[in-house]
Amino acid sequence: MMPVVMPTYGQRTPAMARGEGAYLWDTDGRRYVDFGAGVAVCNLGHCHPHLVAELQKQAATLWHVSNHYAIPGQEKLAGRLVERTFADTVFFSNSGVEAWEGGIKVCRKYHSATGNPKRWRVITVGGAFHGRTLAAISAVKSAKLTDGFGPLVDGFDQVAFGNMNEMRAAITDETAAICIEPIIGEGGIKPADIEYLKALRAVCDEFGLLLYFDEIQTGFGRTGKLFAHEWAGITPDVMCTAKGIGGGFPLGAFMATEKAAVGMVAGTHGSTFGGNPLAMAVGNAVLDVMLEEGFLDGVTETAALLRPQLEALAARYPGVFEEVRGTGLMLGLRLNPAITNTDFITRLKKEHLLVLPAGENVLRLLPPLVITPVEIDLALTALETVSAAISQELAA
Ligand SMILES: *Cc1c(COP(=O)(O)O)cnc(C)c1O
Repeated sequence: MMPVVMPTYGQRTPAMARGEGAYLWDTDGRRYVDFGAGVAVCNLGHCHPHLVAELQKQAATLWHVSNHYAIPGQEKLAGRLVERTFADTVFFSNSGVEAWEGGIKVCRKYHSATGNPKRWRVITVGGAFHGRTLAAISAVKSAKLTDGFGPLVDGFDQVAFGNMNEMRAAITDETAAICIEPIIGEGGIKPADIEYLKALRAVCDEFGLLLYFDEIQTGFGRTGKLFAHEWAGITPDVMCTAKGIGGGFPLGAFMATEKAAVGMVAGTHGSTFGGNPLAMAVGNAVLDVMLEEGFLDGVTETAALLRPQLEALAARYPGVFEEVRGTGLMLGLRLNPAITNTDFITRLKKEHLLVLPAGENVLRLLPPLVITPVEIDLALTALETVSAAISQELAA
């Protein structure tokens, strides 16, 4: 019989009952250390007291009004994001992919509004992930995402990640923008070189294109900066973000410079739920914590504790691990092809550690940014146990 929940996710176990900080408890009361954080969503951990308090306060006051009325929380959150970033203006959505697609609309509209309506194509890179709408799967092109869903949305060209020659060759007089994740997330935790990001900025300037960063997974402190592109010392013209922005409340945003958003006038875009009072209360609460003096530096300090231990683990089990990669607390352990990441993850679950898969047979570690040495030790112990067992099996 068809499952009542459409079975697009495959098998999902266990069922979680409760969360606190970096821990989750399943419905049988077993405790797990959560190094997935709801896919880089619960960056402040589960049920952070400040987020709970602000959400409850808002829930008792006003849940929702439509965007026919002013929503003061939007002004506040947008203002804080504008103050801290390249952007001059922000639109709030409900999810990552809606934010991503809104950013694509900004890119197309910019050229249309500035007299170049023929510039509407966007260049993406291989291995990227931008979400699951028709446009987002069309942009990424991988068969895994697109099979059976065609015809795809036109207007996306793709080149190899990291290859500037291919990028330059793909630019035509129809190109509107280049869209890229500063660190490829779902595709396997692959940071773009700083030189590559700078070269993308330069080529966009040279040809009058917009540079569009997808910081849905990399944003909100994940790498030790509010946004990952800050490490490269360059800024995009357009950016989308989501995941960590709401700490678990569904929320996304796309943001742009005044120049890039020139065409986004009244009536050009909208959302029923986007930026409603509940979402804004939580989004502002997330920033209250994240913008506290020392919070982001603390992420870098925590990463400096975790990463060397992962490098040492990988060095102890060279038959199991091929590489440690990533930035800050967005980390990937690439496994030897003899072990699949999904098998490894199942075994880690038995050791009460939750991590995520990513492309290229990578174990993806996205712990809450508030982890302490205690959780790092627990995670390393679980990784050690499973690595030792696999290493023995491979030798046998
Ligand atoms: C998760 C993700 C998306 C899609 O976000 P949803 O909220 O699932 O729609 C898009 N881009 C990147 C880089 C992501 O990590």
